[in-house]
Amino acid sequence: MDFELTREQKDIKKAAAEFAQGEFDKDFILLCEADHRFPREIYQKAGELGFIGLDYSEDVGGGGLGVMENVLVIEAFCKADSGMGMAIHLAYLPAKIVKKFGTPPQRKKFLTPLVAGKWVSAVSFTEPDHGSDLTRMETTLEEEADGFVLNGTKIFTTNGKYADFFIVLAQEDPNAGPGKGMSTILVERDSNSWLGGNMEINEITGKMGLRMTSSSEVVFHDLKIPRENILGERGRGLMNVLEFLDESRIEIGAQALGNCEGAFLKALAHARERKQFNRPIIDFQGVGHKLARMWSRIQSLKWLNYYGAWLCDKGPARLSRSIPLITSVVKHHVPETAKAIIDDAITVFGGYGYFLDQEVERRYRDNRIVEVYEGTVEVQLNNIVRVLGKMPLPFLDTELL
Ligand SMILES: Cc1cc2nc3c(=O)[nH]c(=O)nc-3n(C[C@H](O)[C@H](O)[C@H](O)COP(=O)(O)OP(=O)(O)OC[C@H]3O[C@@H](n4cnc5c(N)ncnc54)[C@H](O)[C@@H]3O)c2cc1C
Repeated sequence: MDFELTREQKDIKKAAAEFAQGEFDKDFILLCEADHRFPREIYQKAGELGFIGLDYSEDVGGGGLGVMENVLVIEAFCKADSGMGMAIHLAYLPAKIVKKFGTPPQRKKFLTPLVAGKWVSAVSFTEPDHGSDLTRMETTLEEEADGFVLNGTKIFTTNGKYADFFIVLAQEDPNAGPGKGMSTILVERDSNSWLGGNMEINEITGKMGLRMTSSSEVVFHDLKIPRENILGERGRGLMNVLEFLDESRIEIGAQALGNCEGAFLKALAHARERKQFNRPIIDFQGVGHKLARMWSRIQSLKWLNYYGAWLCDKGPARLSRSIPLITSVVKHHVPETAKAIIDDAITVFGGYGYFLDQEVERRYRDNRIVEVYEGTVEVQLNNIVRVLGKMPLPFLDTELL
């Protein structure tokens, strides 16, 4: 067992922290927050400097590395600023499904500009009547002689307003059983790529946090898409999505990890400086113990999140069946615990914590969504119970850490 990051990983972590320190300007952040504006220029710079697609192959400009290196970057960005870090990550995360299932021409076409920070990606799985339950889609995909026709409505698509391409989950076989007969397809924003029909994108306003991203309803009206845009094996759409989620949920966990680390550091600095009753408030046991607990919890979240990333990248084949289990542990435990840590940070700030200026209340609002998207906490707990109910006890007892 080796708990050390490699030299390269340490360099990536340091470089990401330095990038965030240099580029995440507070005034600009507050402007983007107020205007609900995606910080495209910072995203592009992050791409130019190689922070996007570290896990993508080098032939599309990626780093040829893994989930672990992505986790280090996401953690560092979200530690510096929750809104900026999450907005940047959510712009490239959806493309991971193209990395996993794309043909070489698809990978070249969609991933090359994305890795360079020029393109933004989006996933459209959720529908008004199908959120946690993705075993059936109302959005339909019909085959024609020269392509496919999409019809239906998606909801809550992150980046909908400015994404350059969308990965859409649609029902190809209406008579298939639950979870079957679906396919994933790439839809480009560029209407020149369409063979007919239309796509409507409507902004959903009034979000609690994550204000540097757009959330959209996306409606397909007889949208005709070329044959070469089908992504992965037809009829296996939900499996493609679930395999994508196994990796993406580990990275989503890193958002919450960075969010609570950033809140902790601010609370610690405040507790050392702020004096009441002629003493720094950290000297009061009620505050000091709170900070000690926050720090201990952060350490445990970090090890869990890194272990999940290691399992995806380097885990031996015999442990591969534990990936969905650990993924769900990370996806529910890290954001839930991060929420408690950020809440404690607000307490340490007293009345000041309730105001935007200290950024801890924004971290709380931004972090709240990590418990919801890519499968709610309850859905993760269901997954864990399902695996625990079936996994052989000797495997659980002796093979897992
Ligand atoms: C800001 C934001 C960004 C998002 N981005 C995207 C995106 O980019 N692409 C995309 O496709 N989707 C996206 N989503 C959608 C998100 O993934 C869904 O909102 C989420 O999966 C829950 O679905 P739902 O909202 O329909 O809630 P529901 O499924 O209706 O759930 C409501 C409640 O019931 C609980 N519940 C449901 N089923 C069960 C069960 N079997 N057991 C126990 N409890 C259960 C849930 O946990 C939840 O608490 C986004 C959502 C938000 C808010």
